[in-house]
Order: sequence, then C-alpha cells, then structure tokens
Amino acid sequence: MSTPVLEVRNLVTEFPIRAGVLRREVGRVQAVSDVSFDLMPVETLGVVGESGCGKTTLGRSLLRLIEPTSGSVRIGDVEITTADRKSMTRVRSQLQMVFQDPYASLNPRIPVRDIIAEPMRIHGVAKDEAAERVADLLRRVGLLPEHGNRYPHEFSGGQRQRIGIARSLALRPRIIILDEPVSALDVSIQAQVLNLLDEIQDEFQLSYVFIAHDLSVVRHTSDRVAVMYLGKIVEIGVRDEIYDAPAHPYTHSLLSAVPVADPRRERSRQRIILQGDVPSPANPPAGCRFHTRCPIAQERCRTEAPELRTVVGGQQVACHFPLEPGQTLVDIASR
Ligand code: SF4
Repeated sequence: MSTPVLEVRNLVTEFPIRAGVLRREVGRVQAVSDVSFDLMPVETLGVVGESGCGKTTLGRSLLRLIEPTSGSVRIGDVEITTADRKSMTRVRSQLQMVFQDPYASLNPRIPVRDIIAEPMRIHGVAKDEAAERVADLLRRVGLLPEHGNRYPHEFSGGQRQRIGIARSLALRPRIIILDEPVSALDVSIQAQVLNLLDEIQDEFQLSYVFIAHDLSVVRHTSDRVAVMYLGKIVEIGVRDEIYDAPAHPYTHSLLSAVPVADPRRERSRQRIILQGDVPSPANPPAGCRFHTRCPIAQERCRTEAPELRTVVGGQQVACHFPLEPGQTLVDIASR
C-alpha cells in the first residue's frame, strides 16, 4: 500500500468576527471544521459543496495562504502548520496552487516569462536553466516560447489559465491544489484545460486536490470525492461509489440536480430541492449541521453530531441514518 503524499488531520480554520468602533472580537466563524483526509500519489481528490461550505478556505489552509487554527497538515516529514520559513519554502516547491481567476492571480505588470520564472528565482534556480524551463513549460501547456514576452492581458481566459498551470509546474511539485480552475472559462475551453490537467498529471506524476462546485466536472476529473457542508466533510469515498449510491442526504440532494446522459434515467430523475437557507457558519446548528434542511432528520439529529463512519457502499459518511444503495430520499421522506 502506498504512502499518502499529503495527510490532513482534524484541520480547523477559524476567522474572528469583529464589531464596534474598536473592532473587538465578538465571535468566531469556523470555516473549516475538523477536516481529515489523505491524498495518495497521482490521485485526484475532488472537494465539492455549495458556495460558502469552506472548500476554498480548506485549499488555502493546506498551503497556509490562510493560517489554520489547529490540526495537522503533513507533507512527507514536514508539519506544514508549524513549519518555519525555511521549511515552508521547501514545502512550497512541492505543493502549489492554481486559482479560479487566472487574470487576478497573474501580475499584469510583468511579462509571462517572468511570471513563470518567479518561483524558480525564489528557489535559486540559475537564470539560464530557468529560461530553458520557462520555454519548455510554455510549450507543454500548449503555448509558444515567444508568448513569454507578452503580458497577461494579451491572452484569453483559457490561455491565462494555461499560464497559471505552467507557473504551478515550475518547481516540479508533487501536489497541486486546483481551486475552481475552470469555472471562469467557457465550456469548450473548460474541456481543453481539463484535458491538459489530465495529461500533465500522468507526465509529472501529480496529485490534485480539485475544488469545484460543478459536480459534472468533479465526476470527470476525480478518483475520490469529499463532500463538504458548513465546514465539515459529510461524505468521502471513491467517486463511483458516491455518484452511484450517495449515502448522505446532502450528497443525494446535490447529485439529484445533475442531469444524466441516459435518457431513460434522466426521465425518472427525482430532483430534491432543499428547504431553507444554509445556516450561518458563525452559528452552526447543534447536532448534525445539516438537520435544519435534511428531509429525513429525526430527533437524535438535533442533539448528536454524527461522526464519519464507513457504510455499506464503502464510503465514509457523517449521518445517523445514511441511505442504503438504491434508496432515495424521496422514498424515505414519503413513508
Ligand atoms: Fe439528516 Fe440526521 Fe443524517 Fe444529519 S444525521 S444528514 S439530519 S439524517
């Protein structure tokens, strides 16, 4: 059995809530709440959930672009949450991030070759070698070496994301956190960028944490999937287990909104519309955080928080009454 390239244990990231003229802290928002998972070599872990569920904060906490409050993130023998500056520099060569908005993440005032070369300059790669690597990387992501002389505004959205990907590869990392990497792109361009990510994953033996709200994209890209709700992972497992037989009511409702290619199954698809708004992460419900919107919530759900546990389908689910393979929420709720 291979060793994980990234181990995340009980990760918590909180933000202070400030109020009044003196901006005193009056509370805390737990954006990421007790999250644990392993990332295996050359694996893609998709992280999905509604906007505000904490998936972007999770991605940034892994790299300490946002400081986690507690818990552990390990890459090899380095504990990222407590690493000093020197160790973090080493970690950043192995762990990179590609952002949603390729324009905002590229400095508009410097030419593309310097944008891609910047991480190499920071890590002391010789100028000539860096220039050679920039040309190779531009070619590898489907651009031309002479594109290095241009500025980000001279490229389309899809090309800018290719530049972001080239930059993320500059230090030959083992892991890339992809935060909604295609959601700002046209559908036709999305497919090209997803194919590129697929190709470079094999070529560079990369592991991905693929953060997205689009469940069709996650199905296409991921080996395993983690579903987040109000800062917590509520279901995690092998992609097909989750998409074919979701066991958590929240996963079930999310997947019920995704059209299926088979016309017969599409005709019988029962859409689950959740009632009520997502509660404030500053004041999450007691017990199961999903109980205020869950169509099958029971008394126990209001007081007792469910732990992640392995269920019949093989995935891990945080629910007192998980669905069995073949069961639907509509069947249970109408009993
Ligand atoms: Fe619904 Fe209860 Fe399961 Fe939470 S624990 S998802 S409220 S059934």
